[in-house]
This record gives sequence, C-alpha cells and structure tokens, in this order.
Amino acid sequence: MAPRRPFAWCDWGRAILTTRPSSVGSLDATVKLQEYHAKTLLTAAGLPVPPYGVARSSEEAGAQAAAQLAAGASNVVIKAQVLVGGRGKAGGVKLAESAEEAAAVARQILGMDIKGITVRTVLVAPAADIVHEFYLGAVLDRAARRILLMGSAAGGVEIEEVARTDPGAIVRIYAHPHLGLLDHQARSMTFALGLGAHLKPAVTIAKGLVAIMRENDADLVEVNPLAIVRERSDDGGETLTLQCLDAKVTIDDSALPRHPALEAMRDLAEEDPTDIEARAEGLSFIKLEGTIGCMVNGAGLAMATMDLVKRAGGEPANFLDIGGGARSDKVAAAMRLILSDGNVRAILVNIFGGITRGDEVARGLVEARAMQERDVPMVVRIVGTNADEAAAILRAAAFETATSLDDAAAKAVAASARAGAA
Ligand code: GDP
Ligand code: MN
Repeated sequence: MAPRRPFAWCDWGRAILTTRPSSVGSLDATVKLQEYHAKTLLTAAGLPVPPYGVARSSEEAGAQAAAQLAAGASNVVIKAQVLVGGRGKAGGVKLAESAEEAAAVARQILGMDIKGITVRTVLVAPAADIVHEFYLGAVLDRAARRILLMGSAAGGVEIEEVARTDPGAIVRIYAHPHLGLLDHQARSMTFALGLGAHLKPAVTIAKGLVAIMRENDADLVEVNPLAIVRERSDDGGETLTLQCLDAKVTIDDSALPRHPALEAMRDLAEEDPTDIEARAEGLSFIKLEGTIGCMVNGAGLAMATMDLVKRAGGEPANFLDIGGGARSDKVAAAMRLILSDGNVRAILVNIFGGITRGDEVARGLVEARAMQERDVPMVVRIVGTNADEAAAILRAAAFETATSLDDAAAKAVAASARAGAA
C-alpha cells in the first residue's frame, strides 16, 4: 500500500485521508447540503442548534430579524447560504443590531459573489455571544474504512491553517464500525478538547455527528464552530452553553436514492451543469484537471485508460464511464460533456465491446462529430463486439484509430501536445 498522504484539507474542511490512484485525483461524487438544510439534520438528531430563519430577499431578512429581536435577541447574524467554505472570511457572515441594519446587511450579501457562486439565500439567526470556538467533524476515512471523528480546540475560520501547521492539534478517534461512537470515545474526545465542563452536551454532539453520518450515508458531518456561547438570563445571571453554530454535510450521491428527503434538499442551482447533464444521461462523469478527454465503457477500463494516459505523459481531463450497452445517443451526449470542458485538447475513445456494440459507438461518434462545435482531435480504439463494423464506419468517416491501447494513449497525448502548441 502506498503511504498515506499527509493530513490535508479541501474547501469544506474535509480531510483528504484516503490513498487514491495516482491519475484520479478526487473521484468522490458527493452532494453538499446548504447550512440551513444541514442544521435540520442536527436538530432532528437532538443536537443544540440556535433557532434560525431563511430569507431570499432583504425585506424577508429584515422581518426575520425583527421577530428574533422582539423575542429577546440583542443582535442577529446574517449568513450567506452557498456551498463553499470560508464564507466568514469572504464577508458572507455579518452581524446586525436592528431590523433595518439586518435588511441592509442582507441586501449586501444577497447577490454577492463568493468563490464564483452568487448568494441567493441567507440564514438569519439570533447572534451567539461566542466565548470559544471548537472544531468537531465526522468524516469517512475510506482508507481506514471507518468513520473518523476529528476535533480541535482551535476551531473557527482558521481550522485549515491549524490542520496545515499544527496537525497534532487535531484529535482523531475512529468510531466503531457497527456500534458508532461509543460513550467512552465521546468522553475521550470531550476531555481532549477541554470541554469537560460541558460533558453531557459534548458527548451528545460527538455521538450525534457519527449517528447522522450513518443514518444519512453522509461522508462529512462537520460543525465549525462548535461554540461555547454566553447566555444572559433576565436576572442578570450568565450561563455558558455549547451550540452548533455552523453545519456542513456532504452525502454520498450513490446513496441518495435511499434518502428522498435529502435528494429534495439538493441545490441544483449550485451544482455544475455538466454534473446535472451527466446524471440525466446516466453517465458517470467526473471532471479532472488535464487536457485529454477520455470516453470509455466500464469504470475499471476508464481507470486503466487514465493511468495509461498518465504513463504516456498526458493528463486526463475527466473520468467518464458511458456504461454497458450504450447507444449512439449516449455516446453523443458523452462527447458534448467532454467538449464542454475548455481545457480538452484531444479525445481518447477506448471501447471494449461486450454488451456495448462497437458499431453503435462508432455511429455515435460520427453523429457527435457532425454536431461538434469545436474541432478537437480524436483517437479511437474499439475492440470486441462488432469491432470490424466499427472500423469500417470510422474509416469511412476518416477518424484516427488505434489498435493497441498504448498506441491510442500515445497518439492522444501527441495530438494534445500539438493542439497545445498551436
Ligand atoms: P464559514 O466561514 O463558511 O465556515 O461560516 P461560519 O458559519 O463558520 O461563520 C464564520 C465565523 O463567523 C465563525 O467562525 C464565527 O466566528 C462567526 N460567527 C458565525 N455565527 C456567529 C454568531 O452567531 N455570532 C458571532 N458573534 N459570530 C458568529
Ligand atoms: Mn464554519
């Protein structure tokens, strides 16, 4: 087994813990939930989440704030609802002291661009008086085949920095694969974070995050900040409570058919249009960073093809499995998806005909090229069922073909290099 990568975090504070095939980068297909949806899962699991409203206009935000201020809040927080991390740093989280100010702040945040995404919704909540911010998150560790609970006493917006510069400051505990997070594990985490004074709620939260993971087929359930919050009572007294002030949840999209309620929370407006189209066409498509588009049938063959592209000195632009028995219209759709990526400079088609008929694919390619708006060199290798018919069709249409896979990869890489140099 290759050595595990050092602790690293991506946009959503998700630890990249697994060892992945070299050419593949991240192949996880996950669906991110908006904070206001994620918080419904936490609330349903009995975790302490401050009340909140959702607004899509500044007027609505002002009205929500007015109600919360009237109910005793001394100020409110307005939070951009977008599926990216670091909203706080990007100016998407702001406090307001009156309904008017809340409306004005919401007007600023709505329509704001955060990392390329336009804010269309804000969350409005009574502002917490934060004493300390912790990080607590459950993540699927694929390499360990377990759920990993990670915690840090240095939570808040700098957690990525902490993970990078001081990984020892992150406490890690693996949940039991069948029993979830055990009581003693939850207590260990609690004491390790210095949360002994909040033992009961901290244990509830730690166990709850893991339970939410399991119940929803999530691969990330993260609370940052998990905050100690100061609350004042009418008699002037103070209490400190533990509150989940933010929630990030990602769901394994292969599990979504089991969870119609989660499917309904999916925010298509923020998903990549190519992902939506791929799903509609029944194609497994994952965009990567390279220049060589790959069209392959079968996930294993797709992985092998990507490795060969790498070995020939190229970088795959995507993972694409057109599936078994794909007809020509599916091939044409796959071609559209590949070409919608502006980085693609050459296409490698690698089909091993079994149930999939080579001549169907060849016809699909001819059809696709006729509609193609961008002229991209293509190298085609089709073997197996109806390979001879396929070869005749491709010859008639003057496609560049290859017989061996190494030859195909080498030709595609060369074509990409020529296109890049031009
Ligand atoms: P993120 O930056 O996208 O993770 O958004 P968060 O919801 O975590 O908010 C970022 C930061 O804003 C938090 O770490 C807090 O410091 C601050 N924040 C969020 N909610 C509140 C609140 O209710 N009161 C106060 N005072 N600060 C808050
Ligand atoms: Mn956060």
